[in-house]
Amino acid sequence: MNKMIHGKTLEEWLAMYPMLEEVIDAKEVFWNNPSYTSYQEAIQNIRISEDEVRDAAARLERFAPYLMEAFPETSKNRGVIESPLIEVPSMHADLNNSYKAQLTGKLLLKCDNQLAISGSIKARGGIYEVLKHSETLAIENYLLTLEDDYAMMNSDRFREFYSQYSIAVGSTGNLGLSIGIMGAQIGFQVFVHMSADAKQWKKDLLRDKGVTVIEYDADYSQAVAAGRKQAESNAKMFFIDDENSKDLFLGYAVAAYRLQEQLKDKGYLVDHDHPLFAYLPCGVGGGPGGIAFGLKLIFGDDVHCFFAEPTHSPCMLLGLLTGLHEQVSVQDFNLDNITAADGLAVGRPSGFIGRTLEQMISGVYTVTDEKLFLLLKKLVDTENISLEPSALTGLAGPTMLLRSKMGQEYIAQHNLQEKMHQAIHLPWATGGNMVPFEVMEEYYTNASKIQRKLNFKRDDSTSDSNEKQCSVKAKYYIMVLFNGGAL
Ligand SMILES: *Cc1c(COP(=O)(O)O)cnc(C)c1O
Repeated sequence: MNKMIHGKTLEEWLAMYPMLEEVIDAKEVFWNNPSYTSYQEAIQNIRISEDEVRDAAARLERFAPYLMEAFPETSKNRGVIESPLIEVPSMHADLNNSYKAQLTGKLLLKCDNQLAISGSIKARGGIYEVLKHSETLAIENYLLTLEDDYAMMNSDRFREFYSQYSIAVGSTGNLGLSIGIMGAQIGFQVFVHMSADAKQWKKDLLRDKGVTVIEYDADYSQAVAAGRKQAESNAKMFFIDDENSKDLFLGYAVAAYRLQEQLKDKGYLVDHDHPLFAYLPCGVGGGPGGIAFGLKLIFGDDVHCFFAEPTHSPCMLLGLLTGLHEQVSVQDFNLDNITAADGLAVGRPSGFIGRTLEQMISGVYTVTDEKLFLLLKKLVDTENISLEPSALTGLAGPTMLLRSKMGQEYIAQHNLQEKMHQAIHLPWATGGNMVPFEVMEEYYTNASKIQRKLNFKRDDSTSDSNEKQCSVKAKYYIMVLFNGGAL
């Protein structure tokens, strides 16, 4: 009997969505979202308002004096945790040479790998939610007013107050780092429930900071469930819900205002004739979702947001494509959710994000681990920038858009052909600076091995490809003969 997947056989699913075949085979795909619609229409169906994002931005401003005191590294940016926006011309040239990307316009990189405190995109949402929670508690207990100088929170009096409260979170690593470092600094007891993908150095670093790390031999969804359960029975424990949190979302969304300023300062234009393409690495969806929402608020139809996932963990793609959102997991379609992109090793997407952004996301594409490593090496070689594997999914975006059939269709559907030479392509570099040197070296060595193997294969196939084809043909005939004989 055929196994049922959410009420349908695999054959029925494939008949409805032929692209699923490649997704299930862990091949790279570019999916053009059929529900994508104009900003004016999409925003009608979203219950999160611009005021809420502005409120989050204002809260982060209130905390700037505290952050300057508690994390002196943030003082050069006056307590604002923000990353550089840079041009990467050598990488741009290399994409055109190595991948025949035919990439015109500008290639910019948003360097969240350099974000202060935790070196990844999670320094946005994760830190924001911890700060908001600490503000709420302090105000409720008459320790703080909105008019105070928040620098006073960096004191034993406040740390003692916060020590009676705790925070729990489930993570593949980076969210745990952000919540753990920030939460422990404020004075909370922090419990991080880590999935099996989490890297050892991330656990060690957190334990050094006095965070309790609980390890699971299971994937991210189960680590999150464990955190949720722990907090249920404890009124003084706050659970940070990566799958459903509006506060995380708002913290991420603030990035868009900062980017708008940076683009303006550097003289880059985004408008009807100068489209912006954002390529956002996606795990459960909160980070890329929040940022995409912020970008849409500001640039409307002039920005095109694509989510990027590993071929072995395309959870958001499956959620959006099937419309099943958090009901579906990559395991349902026999994918293993095993990838070197540990930050994106998520098997089940956030339904909150999928439903909220259903009409705002232009599409989703997937990238093999092999390509992530090749891009990792290229970016080091051309620009001397080291990112963690997850972050490289973004950099695969321009080539996927320009060189895939579906990408070309997207460009044509939205009449973008004539504008591509003045477009901005913006891969979001979501992490890397916290990775220890030895681990980064291992990534690089692995990339070199993959590169050599590919070169070898290429040489091999060009030198005796004729011979090989012959032998394949011969085998085929033998097979036919035998089968025919048996019949
Ligand atoms: C968490 C993470 C992402 C994606 O964020 P989600 O909210 O999980 O979708 C991307 N890149 C890196 C490096 C991450 O750690």
